Amino acid sequence: MSSLLKGIAASNGIAIAKAYRLVEPDLTVKQKEVNDREQEVSRFEEAIQTAKKELEAIRDRAKEELGEDKAAIFEAHLLVLSDPEFLNPVKDRVQSSGVNAEFAMKETADQFVQMFEQMENDYMKERASDIKDVTKRVIARLLSVELPNPSMIAEEVVIIGEDLTPSDTAQLNKEFVKGFTTNIGGRTSHSAIMARSLEIPAVVGTKTVTSEVENGDVIIVDGIEGEVYINPTAEVLKAYEAKQTEWDSKKAEWAKLVNEPSVTKDDYEVELVANIGTPKDLDGVKENGGEGVGLYRTEFLYMGRDELPSEDEQFEAYKAVLSGLTGKPVVVRTLDIGGDKELPYLHLPEEMNPFLGFRAIRLCLEEQTIFRTQLRALLRASTYGNLKIMFPMIATLEEFRQAKAMLEEEKAGLQKAGVEVAEGIEVGIMVEIPSTAVIADQFAKEVDFFSIGTNDLIQYTLAADRMNERVSYLYQPYHPAILNLVNRVIEAAHKEGKWAGMCGEMAGDITAIPILLGLGLDEFSMSATSILRARSFIRGVKRSDMQAIAQEALTLGTADEVEKLVEQRLK
Ligand code: PEP
Ligand code: MG
Repeated sequence: MSSLLKGIAASNGIAIAKAYRLVEPDLTVKQKEVNDREQEVSRFEEAIQTAKKELEAIRDRAKEELGEDKAAIFEAHLLVLSDPEFLNPVKDRVQSSGVNAEFAMKETADQFVQMFEQMENDYMKERASDIKDVTKRVIARLLSVELPNPSMIAEEVVIIGEDLTPSDTAQLNKEFVKGFTTNIGGRTSHSAIMARSLEIPAVVGTKTVTSEVENGDVIIVDGIEGEVYINPTAEVLKAYEAKQTEWDSKKAEWAKLVNEPSVTKDDYEVELVANIGTPKDLDGVKENGGEGVGLYRTEFLYMGRDELPSEDEQFEAYKAVLSGLTGKPVVVRTLDIGGDKELPYLHLPEEMNPFLGFRAIRLCLEEQTIFRTQLRALLRASTYGNLKIMFPMIATLEEFRQAKAMLEEEKAGLQKAGVEVAEGIEVGIMVEIPSTAVIADQFAKEVDFFSIGTNDLIQYTLAADRMNERVSYLYQPYHPAILNLVNRVIEAAHKEGKWAGMCGEMAGDITAIPILLGLGLDEFSMSATSILRARSFIRGVKRSDMQAIAQEALTLGTADEVEKLVEQRLK
């Protein structure tokens, strides 16, 4: 049966391929009594053998596709499955008390995991996650449940998931993964941001895609309109193949602008820079004609691992980005953890409202060792390029002053120790909390620049969780309240001779760009893949026309009216 689901367009483009469900199956085990204990032990041994065969196949494939070192993890898993110290207690438990094998396996694994997690030695700690993975595989076999195996994907697919973690998305092989679609998430959730940086079309927040799609169904992901077709009719399929070709030819036109300036017809120039998450994203920045980096989200350095990155490790990453961009501006944002970005190894208590909680600069000002380590790494890297430092989630002037004072202290400390630090590093803030936008005048006297973080500014101004698709209708970038706050911040900056940028997703939004251009935004920071389309637009219009649109937009009452105004005026 053919059907259509609506979601949120998270990453541009069209993907057509077969569905691959990346959904964790239910592996809950219940304790049961077995009649024949010998037979239960044999069932367990068979499950181990099957799991081993699966793992060997995965290991061989990983070796071929990804190399020896990536395959080593599966080698470690195979060792666990051959280790009598781990397997015998499971069999003993079945023999002695007649419980089912999956229950005995889970119980034994939990004990081992707890023991390894408490060890000081990092190598031993990692064994805990090997045991967890292996246990999942064996229990799946015992329950006769299929586990998804993304590393075994060998044909073009569209990934279907509840949500994809940043590390899931980072592992997707672009050669085969043509698109993805999820139940939850919004345009600014991190999986969406990763999809844009990988240039994979994505639709998120469909609510029900995992329950409507089976492995192998034909899926169209329309990442431009936010639609997902399941088993489309031949007619729809044909129309979409044509749409895909049209999109590709537009992209080819935009690609010609890679070395051109971002300048309007009446000679008003702005800066189009990129948002990145890791040094690996630099290739995308260059290919898409980015004039620098307007937001380097450093939290990815801290994620998907078991401990904090060392000062040297951070220094290497910052140095790679700064020298990779040969003197072009690079705005590095200090650690913004919390909200939807968790670091399990910090063991922070759960909060009722994580987006309003102990996150970003709040955490850094309290956990000073973490913050100061990052500041030192940044200062040491500063001589390799054009570094600007930016603090996230600033709500009060005191927070900015404290953070800046720590930066000054670390700088003095390094210089005293004979370490060279660049002079005149600009220090700015993200404006993503309404209190800061409202008193931007006062902030502008003390900061070197502003970068407006609309992803958060919108959620805080309209009180609508950016991750919650039930209130996504309130997540309105074009709401006149947002436009007025943005205007206020830009004016405040210019009054003090400072610059104002924007690094929220709104900066790359083709409907918002005319207004932002008209309001006088100096720097637009967006997913690298949005840059050329934005440049093509900017080069086709006059700044004076955009000013007129922007001034009128500020006086309107609803986001809808703003959208219609832009549409009409640009016709
Ligand atoms: C923002 O809030 O607009 C922003 C750029 O930061 P993040 O999306 O990482 O919260
Ligand atoms: Mg933010």
